[in-house]
Amino acid sequence: MRPDLLYPLFAQTVSLPGIGGRFAALLDKVAGSKIIDLLWHLPTELKHRVWRSSLEDIQFGELAILDVTIEKHEPPPKRNRHTPYRVWCHLRGERLSLVFFHAHGDYLLKQLPPGQNRIISGKVEHFQSIVQITHPDYILSPDDKQQIAECEAVYALTAGLSNKTVRKAINASLEKMPSMPEWLDKPLLQHKGWPGWSAAISAVHNPAEMSDLSPLTPSRQRLAYDELLANQLALALVRRRYQRRSGRVVEGNGKLRRKLLQLLPYELTPAQQQAIGEIETDLTAAHAMYRLLQGDVGSGKTVVALMSMLSAVEMSQQAALLAPTEILAQQHYQGISALLKDLPVRVELLTGRIKGKKRSSLLAALAQGEIDILIGTHALLQDNVAFHDLTISIIDEQHRFGVEQRMALMAKGRNDEGGINILSMTATPIPRTLTLTAYGDMDVSRLYDKPPGRQPIDTRIMPLERLQDIIMAAERAVQSGRQIYWVCPLVEESESIDLAAAEDRYQKLKEHFPDQVGLVHGKMKGADKDAVMKAFADGDIRILVATTVIEVGVDVPNASIILIEHAERFGLAQLHQLRGRVGRGTEKSSCLLLYGPKLSEVARKRLKIMRETEDGFRISEEDLKLRGSGEILGTKQSGLPDFRLANLDIHGELLQMARDDSALIMTKDPKLQTERGEALRVLLYLFEKDHSIQYLKSG
Ligand code: ADP
Ligand code: MG
Repeated sequence: MRPDLLYPLFAQTVSLPGIGGRFAALLDKVAGSKIIDLLWHLPTELKHRVWRSSLEDIQFGELAILDVTIEKHEPPPKRNRHTPYRVWCHLRGERLSLVFFHAHGDYLLKQLPPGQNRIISGKVEHFQSIVQITHPDYILSPDDKQQIAECEAVYALTAGLSNKTVRKAINASLEKMPSMPEWLDKPLLQHKGWPGWSAAISAVHNPAEMSDLSPLTPSRQRLAYDELLANQLALALVRRRYQRRSGRVVEGNGKLRRKLLQLLPYELTPAQQQAIGEIETDLTAAHAMYRLLQGDVGSGKTVVALMSMLSAVEMSQQAALLAPTEILAQQHYQGISALLKDLPVRVELLTGRIKGKKRSSLLAALAQGEIDILIGTHALLQDNVAFHDLTISIIDEQHRFGVEQRMALMAKGRNDEGGINILSMTATPIPRTLTLTAYGDMDVSRLYDKPPGRQPIDTRIMPLERLQDIIMAAERAVQSGRQIYWVCPLVEESESIDLAAAEDRYQKLKEHFPDQVGLVHGKMKGADKDAVMKAFADGDIRILVATTVIEVGVDVPNASIILIEHAERFGLAQLHQLRGRVGRGTEKSSCLLLYGPKLSEVARKRLKIMRETEDGFRISEEDLKLRGSGEILGTKQSGLPDFRLANLDIHGELLQMARDDSALIMTKDPKLQTERGEALRVLLYLFEKDHSIQYLKSG
């Protein structure tokens, strides 16, 4: 349960004085829906205003604050919408004019009554020998002049949301700050000269000079460190929880594994052998395995996973493989069944679409222990899926699953603790600097090389304008027996628009290739999707138009061309995944990256990287250099955390410190029971690491 003192920070912004539903919705767009989100919405610029008592002192272009006397109003001639409304004033006898476009005269007369004094602020310009201010940003009666901020923090905004409103909301949020216990180590604070949490938050929202906006100010560093420490500590708690479980020991006699190795048409690579060794060591240890197998697309993770599952089967235990999509589950099922076809191992597939009698008899066989390996989607996690003796679970593309799902899987073992050994797999290449933030909770095995003899993929970059030429080239390729993936982008904002684009492309291609084109997308029913995929795999369809549903894992060796529309909209990791769909057969493969009309310099460079290398890790490192970690972290596909205060390009050193700090905490106060421990719990709740605190209770 979140501590009471944090409640005010987790209240909705709509509860702030003067913030109604409309503004709350706009604030949500730029910052978030809660008060804490506003406190973490840091200013990006600074506006200075200077009091000027005569026009002579003014530098044109600056933001000045002037105490003027209103002279007279000069509305534009009727029906002339281009001439602005002018209000003439004077400052110590010198004339200037305030300029308003599309003005409401009545309103202005009330705001700027002739004969009276007003405090005006705005950018002073010189226009046709008139000194003027267009749309002043402040008009106040002299009594209210303290409302003007001489130094104003400027925030990221969105249409309809003014900086004034954001500042008002943030100022109101600052009032809500509770007094927090200090969770950072006192000597560290002193050594670094960092302020306490509330002081840091106040400081970042009240910059006085440009240098106060630097990510390296003590306040910003402190807040970044808080965020990184919360991240590292949460991972450490999960890690400790998983690793301290006593695991079921899995130590088979090796028979099935030896047989599989004999039957494989290839030798395992050194990297595969090493990973298998690391996994075996975990499986035979008393604690449960919690390991990540990281390997680029096509690096051969499946056989590694299969070897570890066979260890369990050799002991008459069971193994499960959880995949994020139907298509992937299907493919794993087919691939693994094929590898095992001459071994006495029963493999079954369970997805949401297997229903009725078939499902009940499958579940019965599972409970009896007749099924050795069960492959499936989320359907595996349902309560009524009971194993006889599950000891190892493989999770494919683990970032697509949440903590609850991992917990549900763990609960399917025999004893309370589950005892289940978990192997996660991911093909998402992550730059080394970022692995700590994402996978700090797991042991990692890496498949660092690829099986030998792969054909390089010929990657080209081309403007989408050349679509006609491209279609003609596709025609030639299809005639010569090749198959093509045609990928249309999915822009996150609107799946329906994307779908429309994919459907359009499908229709257009059908004109050229009647009966040879199929369409597959995420909104399709499972059975329909399968039918299309099967037709493509069987070669009945030659071109498969797809949204990014084909991104991971799909394997059709005869497809040797992939064409990606608006490649510039994809993350490089995703392009790399997509490209990995080809280059699987013996034929030479190609990848065509098509870009739209507005290609930025960075986008061009990114696409060039794709042309230069097929090494997923290099791609991710280069992408990091070009775009910065902020752009890579927090993208949905990456499965990486989204930092709001920390910027790893700048605060990288703090990450290592946070890592060491949390390791120390875990040895000195693993249950967070000391005074600092209690404060650290508050920190974890502050960053919504509630789940990691659950782990504290049960272990
Ligand atoms: P991924 O890591 O993307 O899941 P897979 O396990 O699907 O990769 O393997 C990709 C392809 O490489 C498969 O066709 C598989 O049969 C083949 N493969 C795996 N290991 C080796 C190896 N050691 N030598 C040759 N081919 C291999
Ligand atoms: Mg795979």
